[in-house]
Amino acid sequence: MSLYQQQEIKLYNTLTRQKEVFRPLVAGKVGMYVCGPTVYQNVHLGNCRTFISFDVMYRYLKHLGYQVRYVRNITDAGHMVGDGDEGEDKVAKQARLEQVEPMEIVQQYTVGFHHVMEQFNALPPSIEPTATGHIVEQIDMTQQIVENGYGYEIDGTIYCDVNRLNELYPYGQLSGRKLEDLYSNTRELDGQDQKRNPLDFALWKKAKPEHIQKWNSPWGTGFPGWHLECSAMSQKYLGEQFDIHGGGLDLAPTHHTNEIAQSMACCGKQPAQYWLHTNMLTVNGTKMSKSLGNSFLPHELFAGSHPLLEQPYSPMTVRFFFLQAHYRSTVDFSNEALQAAEKGYRRLMAAFQLLPKLSPANSFATSSTAEDVALNALLDECYACMNDDFNTPQTIAVLFGIAAKINAYHHQQAPLGDLQSATFERLKMVFSSMIIDVLGLLDETNAADSGVTDGLMSLILEIRANARANKDWTTSDIIRNQLTALGISVKDGKEGTTWNLG
Ligand code: AMP
Ligand code: ZN
Repeated sequence: MSLYQQQEIKLYNTLTRQKEVFRPLVAGKVGMYVCGPTVYQNVHLGNCRTFISFDVMYRYLKHLGYQVRYVRNITDAGHMVGDGDEGEDKVAKQARLEQVEPMEIVQQYTVGFHHVMEQFNALPPSIEPTATGHIVEQIDMTQQIVENGYGYEIDGTIYCDVNRLNELYPYGQLSGRKLEDLYSNTRELDGQDQKRNPLDFALWKKAKPEHIQKWNSPWGTGFPGWHLECSAMSQKYLGEQFDIHGGGLDLAPTHHTNEIAQSMACCGKQPAQYWLHTNMLTVNGTKMSKSLGNSFLPHELFAGSHPLLEQPYSPMTVRFFFLQAHYRSTVDFSNEALQAAEKGYRRLMAAFQLLPKLSPANSFATSSTAEDVALNALLDECYACMNDDFNTPQTIAVLFGIAAKINAYHHQQAPLGDLQSATFERLKMVFSSMIIDVLGLLDETNAADSGVTDGLMSLILEIRANARANKDWTTSDIIRNQLTALGISVKDGKEGTTWNLG
């Protein structure tokens, strides 16, 4: 019997606003779609929090033996500055500013995103589709929506008809709002005069002559609306209906609401059974965001180079910091919280490192003892916490309880011989798989090594950049030559400096 058959998971479903028992559409299989990054700038730590939260869910479902198809897209076209229908495409704008091709922007920030995810030990998704790679599917979906009577064309742009859809199902369901409330909160937006109603949104947009990323369609040259890619790609890879759809909470009121609208308009079905949303990483209570200018970048943490940081923090410290909060709570970013996380992480890993050093007892108990029952209860509790809507902070609290036991066995304050041999084996199995496989924490020594190397390299390259800015060529040459002597090659590009070993 697989682990998943023994465990009952409950998930908080934003759609119904309650915890529900998780029942996948096909027994033993899970289809999960998560909205990925828009690759026009470096991902900040808030974005990372969201992706790490879903990484843990993916890991736990896999750990339980589910066959998971995890689809996380890359938005490389169609996402406008301001997140609405009007304005400039974020990728195209960045390309214009940097005077490069949009696809150079996409490549650079996709590679950067993957690097950061690797540093945080986040597993790659099963499929990582791009918006520009699925234009045909998006045109097909738009055509179907128009055919079904839920889309209309105005001068080469196709809008989704929200009022008509609301006759089919409550359009504002995901945000818990009625259509009238949504209308009363709608701002007057540029270009909305074209639409029949302010809540209608573009499925396909006519391209202005200066627009760079555009494609031929039955309605002329244009490009897909931001929401459409996720509907088209989730349908292609997971089917019209699948199990889990995730993303940051800020996506629920518009992007996800409109994804549901598109699926309902196209095939009359709610796309996902469970909508999971991560809460925001904040700085002094304000959402961390690129546009507010209060974002911290991962490499600034690893190098400790941000002016508000008192020290560098390794990728695993940051990962642990995130997991110490429930994914549905906000987390405020501070030096104190990160320093506490660093201590906690080290304490947990110290117990993990003791585990293989525990010398098995000369003889194990042959029947149940109080110690045996207590330890088994803690091991069960790890699963109970994860089953309760992926409650990682509680899981970590229980792991600390187990760590205390491991310390006691190691220092022989509690006799290992009070355990049955199967319980001793279970302790090793559950403790290490919860830390390594499920929470995705790397062994401290390795993690510390790679974090320190990355941190030192960022620091050295920053010193070199400052030297160059001050025309201090002697210092910058010494740094480059010494790095070359160490087998580290440094490459200066338009977007900054990169380094490679060998
Ligand atoms: P974007 O690249 O802006 O489309 O965002 C990628 C993902 O990061 C989305 O799921 C957002 O909801 C999420 N996100 C953005 N800001 C934050 C934040 N401060 N805390 C947590 N998640 C965030
Ligand atoms: Zn999306």
